[in-house]
Order: sequence, then structure tokens, then C-alpha cells
Amino acid sequence: MQIDGKAPYDSQNVFARILRGEVPCNKVFENEWVMAFHDIAPKAPVHVLIIPRQAYVSFMDFHTKASPDEIVGVMRSVGEVARHMGLEKNGYRLITNAGPDSGQEVPHFHIHLLGGKPLPLFPV
Ligand code: AMP
Repeated sequence: MQIDGKAPYDSQNVFARILRGEVPCNKVFENEWVMAFHDIAPKAPVHVLIIPRQAYVSFMDFHTKASPDEIVGVMRSVGEVARHMGLEKNGYRLITNAGPDSGQEVPHFHIHLLGGKPLPLFPV
């Protein structure tokens, strides 16, 4: 299924269900802005997904609709999760897929946090 990064928000998507506690997750961090949990199919020793608590389909939706306070709150939280996961010394990669060409699978804005080993050079 192709994800339109600006489509109407589907409140039944799996990350919405995780936020509501309807689907379990392996949570590593949460605060007023975000929840972070291990990816179910990790691509690196550390592969955590960071999602805003509010409903945004993708980064396209987030950067146009979120308030300045929320944008700052979410982005600062991403850094806090990276620190919490012990990645600040050796570094890490952040990725967000948005819309059809990116291969986005889940229509709730999320940032992939990857690290824990030297990562292969960026694939594209
Ligand atoms: P994306 O392609 O950027 O939309 O990435 C979606 C990610 O969500 C993939 O890496 C999946 O492995 C991950 N994922 C899907 N369902 C779950 C779940 N229930 N718990 C944790 N990660 C999930």
C-alpha cells in the first residue's frame, strides 16, 4: 500500500494503537511529546522508533501543522532518546520516511533512530 504523507489521519494505524495501549510495544522512553520503542524488525543493534503523541501522518503533515512548541518538544525529545540509548559517544542516524517514494509503511509520523555499530554508508 502506498502511503500519502498528507492523507487524512487513519486512527487505526498500528502506532496510534500503540499510543492508546491497544497494541504492546517494547517502550524505551516517553515524555509529554513522544513515545519511543524498539522497532519490531531492527535493522541495527539499536533501532528505536520515536513517535509524537499527536496525530500526524508524516513529516509533511507534522512540519505544516504542529505548533512551534511541539516541533521543538518533539525534536529535543529525539535527542534525549538518543542520549538515553547511549548513542552520543559513537553517534547515530536519524531517518524519517514520508510519502510514496520513501517507502513509508506506517501512516503516523515517526523517526527511526539507528546505531550501536558503524552503519553502512547511506543507501541512496
Ligand atoms: P516506515 O517504513 O518508515 O513506515 O517504518 C515503519 C517501521 O515500523 C518498520 O521499520 C517496521 O518494522 C516498524 N513496525 C511496524 N509495526 C511495528 C510494531 N507493532 N512495533 C514496532 N515496530 C513496528
